[in-house]
Order: sequence, then structure tokens, then C-alpha cells
Amino acid sequence: MTDAPSAPPAADFYAEYAPAAPPAALPRAPLRLSCVVPAHNEEANLPAFVQALAQAVQALTADFEILIVNDGSRDGTHEVALQLVQDSGLPLRYLALSRNFGKEAALSAGIDHARGNAVLLIDADFQHPLALLPQMHALWQGGYDMVYGVIVDRAAEHGAKRLGTDLFYRIMNSGNTVKLPPNAGDFRWLDRKVADALKALPERHRFMKGLYAWVGFKTVALPFVPLDRAAGASSFNLRRLGSLALLGLTSFTTLPLRVWSVIGGLVALVALLYGGWITLETLLFGADLAGWPTLAAGIMLFSGVQLMSIGILGEYIGRIYDEVKQRPSYLVACDADRTPWRDAA
Ligand code: UDP
Ligand code: MG
Repeated sequence: MTDAPSAPPAADFYAEYAPAAPPAALPRAPLRLSCVVPAHNEEANLPAFVQALAQAVQALTADFEILIVNDGSRDGTHEVALQLVQDSGLPLRYLALSRNFGKEAALSAGIDHARGNAVLLIDADFQHPLALLPQMHALWQGGYDMVYGVIVDRAAEHGAKRLGTDLFYRIMNSGNTVKLPPNAGDFRWLDRKVADALKALPERHRFMKGLYAWVGFKTVALPFVPLDRAAGASSFNLRRLGSLALLGLTSFTTLPLRVWSVIGGLVALVALLYGGWITLETLLFGADLAGWPTLAAGIMLFSGVQLMSIGILGEYIGRIYDEVKQRPSYLVACDADRTPWRDAA
């Protein structure tokens, strides 16, 4: 492999995920849009963002709702959101989760409660350009069931994050039947079909990027350059990104498990050859007692390898344990609905 890890993926890479021409489809019903906005410590962004979002959406349809999902914020997001629901006059619905369940759970909560025939997932920090909504709408109307934003410029991100992201997609996509488009995020436009499919997936630990890819449907990538965060700080540090990557790996690939069969096989083969050689040497030249350092090093190396493989097994078993407990992936503590749709559902 010669390509630098930071090189943006070639444009035709995404051709694999999106057909060249829009699929033939019956005309869509008039748009009824649910906008899902996950918010974790976004008090500084929320009022301006909701206004800007409403304005952008009003250009597409008058029939919409904005669903703010407060993911256990510790700042004034709750008060700010309640105030917006009460005073803004916009079709808002506010869900507060009972604690911080993570962005994946917040998005799931939004998708579960969305009632439109299309669902827009968008961050509250202005990083996802509102200017793309007309294009997303047009692609959906053209027959695509899912339009997803792909980040084309990660230059602003620091080296470690970029390298990690790159490595993650390499492992995820090696040998997996469901391919994750690299750098596709949570900026998405989903048709009702896709939202229903996602709702029907029973797993508790939800790695959304994997689930979007797993459900399939007619999808198309829409490249975009993320804008700067308007206010506040990103909730994802390297540790959180790491654990998200681990969640992705354990829920979507068994490669880390299978690797050990190969390593085990290779080690056994080497041991067999080495054993044969020792037998031969003893028969030909007699026994001597040398070789303790080899033995000690060998034992240490292979105990290490075994512990590592047990650790990886443990990672998967931990996920199985979490899944069988069947706890919900989030709990709703407050549901304030000020949309005209509230009695229809
Ligand atoms: N977010 C959330 N729960 C979390 C962390 C983040 O709902 O535990 C929301 C956050 O409010 C924002 C979006 O997810 O609307 C993206 O988060 P952030 O901007 O922190 O991530 P980044 O853009 O740096 O990946
Ligand atoms: Mg952000």
C-alpha cells in the first residue's frame, strides 16, 4: 500500500455505494420532514441553530417538525430547549433522555420518535451545512432512500485522529460483506422506509454508521466540507472515539476473532517443525541441556499472545452480555411536543 493515510478517497470510490443514475421510482408523496437534532451541552448553539434550521427547512416544506434530543446535557440545554418549545412558535418537539446515553442512542431516540415521511439527522453545532438541504431533498425526490454526507476535507483534524479513522475503516472493510463508506457521518436524509428498518433492528448497542450501511436501500453520497463548530466544544475526545471504534468493530466484524485462528495455526506449524528438528537433532547428535532461554522466551511470548486473544474474546463476550440483558438503549425523561402532528400519531 503506497497511498498516504491522509489522502482523501478517490471520487470513484463512492461509486461502489451509489449508482450513477438516480433509481427509477414512483413520485414521492409531498414531503413531511422530521429533523432530528441530538444535543449534548449545546446551550450556546441551540437557539440560533433551531431558527436557522427552521428557515432552511421552510424553503422545502411547511410541513415539518424539529425533534431536539437532549442527551443528558450538563449545561443549560434543557432550559433553553424548553423555552424554545414554548416561545419560538416553531413546530418543535423536545425529548430529554434521562442521562447521557451517547450520540448513537440519541439518534436512535430521534429516529424512533420521528413521524415524517423523511427524517433528517443533523448536528446542533452548525458543522453540517444547511445549504445542502435542497440537494438532499432533490435526491430523495429523485428516488434515493438515503442521502448521506461524506466529509471530504479532514485536513482540519489532527494527525492522530485522521490516522485512527483510516485504520478503523481499513479493518472494518476488510472481508466484511457490508462495506462502510469511509468518512460518512451522521449527516443524513432518510426515507421513512429506512427509518422503519433502523427502528426494527433490535440491538441495544447501536453503532449507527454500521446500521445505516447494513440496512441497504438506494443510497447516495453527498460530499461536504464540515464547517467550524459555532460555539462550545466537541464531545468526542480521542478516548470516546476509541470506544466508538471498538463498538463498531465488535458489532460489525469478527475479523479480530478470526485473526487468532490464523495466528494459532501458524504458531502450531512453527512449533511442529521446531519439534521435528529437535527430535532429529537429539537422534543424530545426542541430547544436551541447552535452550533454556529459548524456552523462557517462548513461554512468555505465547502467554502474552494467549492473554491478548482472551482479551479480544472477552470484548465480544462483554457485548453479548450487554445485549442479552436487553436493557433499552435510552430512556426518555421528558417529552414536550408542540408540533401540529402531536395528535395525529
Ligand atoms: N452529541 C450527543 N451526545 C453525545 C455527544 C454528542 O447527542 O454524547 C451530539 C452533539 O450535541 C452534536 C453532535 O452529537 O449535536 C455531534 O457531536 P460533536 O460536535 O461533539 O462531535 P464532532 O462533530 O466533533 O464529531
Ligand atoms: Mg460537531
